[in-house]
Amino acid sequence: MDQKDLGRDFDEVRDITVIGAGPVGLSAAFWAGMREATSRIIDSLPELGGQLTTLYPEKWIYDVPGFPRVLAKDLVEQLREQTLEQFDVPVHLDTTAETISREPDPDDPEREHVVLHTERGELRSRTVIIAGGHGAFEPKKLPGYDLSEWEGRGVHYIVGEKAVFEGKKVLIIGGGDSACDWVINLLDTADQVSLAHRREGFRAHELTVGQVLEAADRGDVALHVPFQIKEVSGNGAVERVRLFHSEDEAHEVELEVDAILLQLGFKTALGPLKDWGMEIEKGSIVVDQVMKTSLPGVWACGDITVFDGKLKLIATGFAEAAVAVAQAVHHIRPEMKIQPKYSTNTGVPGAVEGQP
Ligand SMILES: Cc1cc2nc3c(=O)[nH]c(=O)nc-3n(C[C@H](O)[C@H](O)[C@H](O)COP(=O)(O)OP(=O)(O)OC[C@H]3O[C@@H](n4cnc5c(N)ncnc54)[C@H](O)[C@@H]3O)c2cc1C
Repeated sequence: MDQKDLGRDFDEVRDITVIGAGPVGLSAAFWAGMREATSRIIDSLPELGGQLTTLYPEKWIYDVPGFPRVLAKDLVEQLREQTLEQFDVPVHLDTTAETISREPDPDDPEREHVVLHTERGELRSRTVIIAGGHGAFEPKKLPGYDLSEWEGRGVHYIVGEKAVFEGKKVLIIGGGDSACDWVINLLDTADQVSLAHRREGFRAHELTVGQVLEAADRGDVALHVPFQIKEVSGNGAVERVRLFHSEDEAHEVELEVDAILLQLGFKTALGPLKDWGMEIEKGSIVVDQVMKTSLPGVWACGDITVFDGKLKLIATGFAEAAVAVAQAVHHIRPEMKIQPKYSTNTGVPGAVEGQP
């Protein structure tokens, strides 16, 4: 279906609705296509790619087998091409699955359709696969100093494109992996990079901390530890930041800064999914060894699941998606084997000719 003509999809009953257009949701729709099942994807964000697009599009990923290294945004593009260019998968962005209900299948009273209620209308399918990641996520704000008036005027929480920081004097706030990673990653883009952290010591990977300290020794990074923001000023946009020493408030430093990048982590919440009556443990959906949730006709995969031995990785999410799809397809058409045939023998069986 043409992506411009999504309205028609509200009248269709698909085999699988995939909630989440992160890497695992995209791969679930791909596996569905390979099993000749019809699917659609919905995501509350305005773009494909989940965490990869929102949180770290320009970071290298080194542990997706088959890619010695790949930029997060490029992996999303490969998944988009593999899924959306080969199969007819309507993608509803800016669309949140708010509630779930069931209704009898008019063609088979023994069976039910799952109905997802979104702000844009109801979407019907025979099964649902939840690849909702961390659910809705939002960056943590700076405690102790309200930066809201500077948001969009020099204060950033996410690096969408590194180019935004081109030639800028960037102050990064935080002491974890993301803060340290961005110090290193912005060295080739920003004019100056400073890092302020309110505590002594960083909570980041040893290797990255080593790189940050080496960059500081070379004079490439100005470290302000343990310092916190006292005041931000500027004429319409961030121009200066005053920091104070965490253990001696009278000790202040003033920096010329035109971008502040806060890397304090993210608050995550299952959002509407937590009220669907599924078994939830520590904010994740409990699944069995075949990715089945406690709701009939609903499977889950990727970061949102919890089970014994769970790994929150892209590679394992892909495999969980394959398992979930195999089960969903077998549920819809019991005559279909759970084990797929090898793609080396079948090619891409569900591919739509000329699908853009
Ligand atoms: C900084 C950082 C670096 C990382 N580096 C690596 C790495 O090197 N290697 C690795 O394997 N992993 C890495 N990860 C983890 C990896 O990003 C996750 O494992 C992966 O994104 C999980 O994919 P997913 O599709 O399950 O979830 P997500 O990417 O979180 O996507 C879930 C999507 O579901 C949507 N959604 C949720 N609820 C709803 C709803 N009710 N309705 C509609 N849409 C909904 C969300 O909007 C989101 O787009 C990293 C993570 C971070 C934050």
